[in-house]
Amino acid sequence: MTAGLALGLAEYAEGVRSGSVSAEEHMASTLERIARHDGALHAYVSLDPGALEGAARVDRDARAGRDVGPLAGAPLAVKDNICALGCPTTCCSRMLGSYRSPYDATAVSRLRGAGAIVVGKTNMDEFAMGITTEFSAFGPSRNPWDTARVPGGSSGGSAVAVSALECAAALGSDTGGSVRNPASFCSIVGLKPTYGRVSRHGLVSYANSIEQIGPMARSVRDAAMLMDAIAGPDPMDDTTRLAGPAGGHAAHLGDGVEGLTVGVDARAVDETTPVGRAARRAAGALESLGASVVDVDLAHEGLSVAAYYVITAAEAGSNLARYDNIRYGYEMPADGYEHGAYVTAARSRLGPEVQRRMILGGFVPSAGHAGQYYLKALRARDVLASEADSSFSSLGLSCLLSPTVPVPPFRLGEKIDDPVELFRMDSNTVLANLTGRPAVSVPFTLCGGLPVGMQLMGRAGEDARLLGVAAALEGAADEMGVPVP
Ligand code: GLN
Repeated sequence: MTAGLALGLAEYAEGVRSGSVSAEEHMASTLERIARHDGALHAYVSLDPGALEGAARVDRDARAGRDVGPLAGAPLAVKDNICALGCPTTCCSRMLGSYRSPYDATAVSRLRGAGAIVVGKTNMDEFAMGITTEFSAFGPSRNPWDTARVPGGSSGGSAVAVSALECAAALGSDTGGSVRNPASFCSIVGLKPTYGRVSRHGLVSYANSIEQIGPMARSVRDAAMLMDAIAGPDPMDDTTRLAGPAGGHAAHLGDGVEGLTVGVDARAVDETTPVGRAARRAAGALESLGASVVDVDLAHEGLSVAAYYVITAAEAGSNLARYDNIRYGYEMPADGYEHGAYVTAARSRLGPEVQRRMILGGFVPSAGHAGQYYLKALRARDVLASEADSSFSSLGLSCLLSPTVPVPPFRLGEKIDDPVELFRMDSNTVLANLTGRPAVSVPFTLCGGLPVGMQLMGRAGEDARLLGVAAALEGAADEMGVPVP
């Protein structure tokens, strides 16, 4: 049964189309697997009651010879900050505990249009603020490779579901690494597309000027197939207008890296650590496949985490101001409206990390301090973008390699009381968000039995070429097997 669940999206859809695979049986097996393992892993926070019927419909359409789409019958997991009609969208916050999506996010409706079926909504750090999934109001998810460890975050539930074969593929969102970080910790592929390539319509905003919905999958090819379905202009999100062509993400998967120049982000590679040594080995693998490899020194890279947290706090401060307990968060107490009790209850509806960001988000752009923090952070963002642009053009880089996260997955509770230490875990991922560039995490090796992914950051708009390099690195990665039996 497990072997069937691990099928690639293209083979699976072909099986459904030809009738050799039953989407309904496959969905039933997926739900059975969720029932068996998700108590321990906690990837999902809700399941779509229509999943089985949706799969049966795909089978009926296939039998009737109708076009069932390139993702026919694929069980899809959706991060709980992305709207899927008929499901709750809670952002794993008590503030949205009773909220149900009144519409599909564009990415979700396009995946449904391509034949995928929503299985359920996945666990995440509240409002996508965090890197371990421990800040979920529903309790943490666990890493399928070692359930004492975090799966990464904030799209931790989606990564767990993909890794543990509790879905075929998933959507996450990436503001500063939330697709790539859990992809690395759970040994799957995760792409943060070029800013504007994927519509944010239906994604609950955290820091809208930098975040993107991204695919999470078991192979680079599957991630490319999801991109082909979700990318492209959307009248509901004007930032998609400059995003370039919609399809073609699989166009370069077989190209290899011969003749390309790959930079190694020297400041992010600490060869005194196992993860740093793994990054050197990854660079060596690309070199032996024909790429030229050069060390790149981004002198201002140290500014990126500070700039990221100032800018995201400011944007979160305004985006989350709508949760005012009038339009959202209001629940009439059973014994009628009682102002005092209601306000007390409302105060605790946001968890500690979100409260911290809201306070910061009120402070940094405030009249007296904007010049000290927010404007400086915007300047730092410009400096980082021009530094990256000039390195890429002067060295002729196709992409920049680094470890996705500086460390392998750590234990639950290990870093939760040290927010600054958690912020540092984003040091290799936030640059892509601040500069709008695409970046992908590819499983590469195990360190001490735990997954370690490598990040490749590409040129803006060249997501397909980046996936081509990612496919080459994927082919050179160590054999890792699957985590849960
Ligand atoms: N860890 C980062 C943060 O907390 C990134 C989160 C994300 O990408 N959504 O903001």
